[in-house]
Amino acid sequence: MSSADSPVPVDYGRVFTSAIDRLHAEGRYRVFIDILRNKGMFPNARCFAGHNGPKPITVWCSNDYLAMGQHPKVIAAMEEALHDVGAGSGGTRNIGGNTHYHVDLEHELADLHGKENALLFTSGYVSNEATLSTLAKVLPGCIVYSDELNHASMIAGIRNSGCEKRVFRHNDLAHLEELLAADDANVPKLIAFESVYSMDADIAPIAEICDLADKYNALTYLDEVHAVGMYGPRGGGISDREGLADRLTIIEGTLGKAFGVMGGYIAADQMIIDVIRSYAPGFIFTTSLSPVLVAGALASVRHLKGSSEERDGQQAAAAKLKAMMADAGLPVMASTTHIVPLMVGDPVKAKKISDILLAEYGVYVQPINYPTVPRGTERLRFTPGPAHDEGMMRDLVDALVEIWGRLELRRAA
Ligand SMILES: *Cc1c(COP(=O)(O)O)cnc(C)c1O
Repeated sequence: MSSADSPVPVDYGRVFTSAIDRLHAEGRYRVFIDILRNKGMFPNARCFAGHNGPKPITVWCSNDYLAMGQHPKVIAAMEEALHDVGAGSGGTRNIGGNTHYHVDLEHELADLHGKENALLFTSGYVSNEATLSTLAKVLPGCIVYSDELNHASMIAGIRNSGCEKRVFRHNDLAHLEELLAADDANVPKLIAFESVYSMDADIAPIAEICDLADKYNALTYLDEVHAVGMYGPRGGGISDREGLADRLTIIEGTLGKAFGVMGGYIAADQMIIDVIRSYAPGFIFTTSLSPVLVAGALASVRHLKGSSEERDGQQAAAAKLKAMMADAGLPVMASTTHIVPLMVGDPVKAKKISDILLAEYGVYVQPINYPTVPRGTERLRFTPGPAHDEGMMRDLVDALVEIWGRLELRRAA
């Protein structure tokens, strides 16, 4: 029976309500915490959750990893741009919105990754979606090989390309090779993966994946969103640290995390940049980033190219916090990166711990639930940075130990 024959009219309200009810039932209904960060006092912020005016909190889950969003050079550059050229770009890149700031930043990013050129997008999400969907469409018959833990924006891009997709087990070279070997040697292939996986806090075997790409004549696409600014002598990411940038076809990054501002980009050979620039709807049909944002990002990228102080401070803070949590018997996950995940394994408990931390301890850390991570692996994800001092870490660990006892949660072995 078609819906046109149905005697019962659609009850839209009931459908929407039950969609939301499902989230409540699973304990993963999302609540956004209402905050204002205090410039110059990172990681301090004000929280507007209560009725007695804003309450001071310490932020432990910011992706402004190096506090560059509050860096004096970044703020000065944005103020100068605002007063010099005004608020917005006024158009798409093709129609009036190609400001000199955009051109400069693309040169700076191309240099950062040792590539011929770069291309800016309004976010990292858009850069992944637009590039992957376009690239796989331009290559007839292309097959994309995608790590099972790839970010939602890469998955969306691959899906929107309409191409064939093979999902390989996370960081599993043998599985990737098995899939590559099973396909026709002469069809175009693209391997899409990340360097630092931000929820599991591990790093891809980039060199070995590039070896497989060479062997099977595949292109490579590396998302370095959680590594740019933070790894490598100039902040070019893990591929910079390991001297592998020239082996990757496309490196993708964000300006919104360690660079502290907003926007996304890819860096690649001129030919590929020209194709994406010319064919990607997500690049073409949208107003370009505000020159104010681009000026801030430019100052941030330039600063982090020349300064390792922030990177070193972040690595030291992460090592310290991991050690303190492990000493306290908290189930901190193995991590070779700056991210410190604490496994809970239950969405309701993860939310409960986060609620208690905020209400009773002024600690803000968001619970990470499905679909961001697989069900049963719900966790708290801490991102210590150069400005999180030992006193803050002690307060955090003491609070966690108290809550772990109160809720009778599992301790580390
Ligand atoms: C956050 C994130 C993105 C998207 O970047 P935005 O600039 O925030 O849109 C892309 N890839 C990964 C792995 C991410 O974690």
